[in-house]
Formats: sequence, structure tokens, C-alpha cells
Amino acid sequence: MRNILLKLIKLQDLDNKIKNWQQIEAETPGKLAQARENLTALEAQLTVHKERLVVNSRRLRQLEVETADLTQRRITNQTRQLKARNNEEYRAVLKEAETINNQLSSREDELLSLMDENEKMEAIGPGLEEEVKKELEIFTQQASQFESILQEGRKKNLEDEEDRKNLLTLIPAEFLSRFSTVAKNRDGQAMSPMRVDMCGICRLKIPPQLFNELQTGEKMLSCPNCGRIMYWTMDPLFKDFVPVVKTVEGEGDNKVKAKSKSKSKAKSKDNFQEQAEPTDEESSVEEVEEIEESASV
Ligand SMILES: [Zn+2]
Repeated sequence: MRNILLKLIKLQDLDNKIKNWQQIEAETPGKLAQARENLTALEAQLTVHKERLVVNSRRLRQLEVETADLTQRRITNQTRQLKARNNEEYRAVLKEAETINNQLSSREDELLSLMDENEKMEAIGPGLEEEVKKELEIFTQQASQFESILQEGRKKNLEDEEDRKNLLTLIPAEFLSRFSTVAKNRDGQAMSPMRVDMCGICRLKIPPQLFNELQTGEKMLSCPNCGRIMYWTMDPLFKDFVPVVKTVEGEGDNKVKAKSKSKSKAKSKDNFQEQAEPTDEESSVEEVEEIEESASV
């Protein structure tokens, strides 16, 4: 039975690797697209910045010409004021002076505000350019990193798929079917590695007798709560397969059970069994729970 368990452990390991790979393969293009989007947005910002500077500079030159022209007109106007021959002519020249002054004043205001804006823009320009450069570097680095992750991952995944296919032929059908049923019901995680008397995935504490049985490796045993196939990680045969597993919080109603269990630690075994009654979902697993070591082992 230990040899069959070992094969199932290897199968779980391969399944997990394949699942991980599928996730990486699915997420990587999105991550790269996000990085490209960041870069594009920053480049667009830089382009707008540069274009604005060009437009501003053009307008500045125009304003300088207009201001010089208006200043010249004011001088001419002042001369004409002195030369006015009558009141009417004098009023007309004064009116023109007012218009020139207003225009000059508005041009000067615009000139000052544009110069101010340009000064600020020129100050942030190099930083923005630096930022784009950095973002481009990050993107290029990420792109090549992702590419090599994908390349290596694809290769490794093909190997894993091949190993899995071969492994499937070595596992007796009844055990394989049990593994598949649990995996299907438990998000792909059919095996529960256990170092102490607690399910490695759902964290349920199991009765001492069950734990003793588990350590002998003579039977295929299921966690009374989550139905996963348990194995003892201290068994020398399994030592290379002690995975880092995620425990599943609140799976089924194990949370409640685990809680009430810890409260009633000192209570009898009967009490435990009552609490650990499988749910409907788990009963299909329960049916095949006690498959004895088959002759084929
Ligand atoms: Zn469990």
C-alpha cells in the first residue's frame, strides 16, 4: 500500500505543478500587457509634455514680436499726442493709446504666465524622460523574463504531463478512481500530508488510533472531515514528497468541527466520531474509504 500511496503522492505533486503552470501561463500575458500599458501611458505623457513645450515656445516668440510691435506703436502714438492739432484729434489719439496699452498689458500677462509655465515644464521634463527610460528598462527586462519563464515552463510542463501519463498506467484503477473523486470534490487536492495527528489541509485532529494506523501505511485512509487521502510525511518512503501545502480555511464545515473539537479535546472518542460525521458531499469519498491493500501491491 505504501508504494501505491507513493505513486498517488507523486501524482498529486505533478497535478499541482501542472495546475501552477496553467495559472502562470494564463496570468503572464496579462502582466506583460499591464507593464506595456504603463510604459505607453508614460510615453504618451512625455509626448504631450514635449508638444506643449513646442506650442508654448512658438506662442512665446509670437508674443515677443507682438509686444515689440505694440511698444513701437505706443512710441508713435505718444509723438502723435504731442502733435495733435485739435481736441477731437487729441481724443482719438488718446483712445488709440488706451487700446494699445490694453493690448500690451494682456500680451505681457500672457507672456509672463507662459514663461512661468515653460520654466516649470522644463524643470520636470528631465525627470519625466528619466521615468520613461526606467519604465522602458523594466518593461524590456520583464518581457524577456516572462519569455524565459514561459519557455522553461512550457518545456517543464510537457515533461510533467508525460510523467503523469506514465504514472497513471502504474496506479491500480480503484485507487486512481478514489484519488480522482477526492480531487474533483476538493479543488484538485486529493492528498493530505500529515506529520502529526492533524489533517495537513483541513487541520482536523484525528483520533490516536487512526493516526497509529496511518503510520503503518498498511491502509489507504481518508481524513474524516475533508475526505482527502492521508499519508504520514515521516515515512522514509515519502520523505522526498513533503510539500508546502495551503490549508483550506472553512472547508465544508470543518471550521466549526475543528473549533468544537478543540473545545472538547478531553472528551471521549465517541464524541469525536459524532462530530466528524461526513457531510453529504463527503459521503461518496467515505464509501471507498477503507479499501484494503490489494493483491496487486
Ligand atoms: Zn482533512
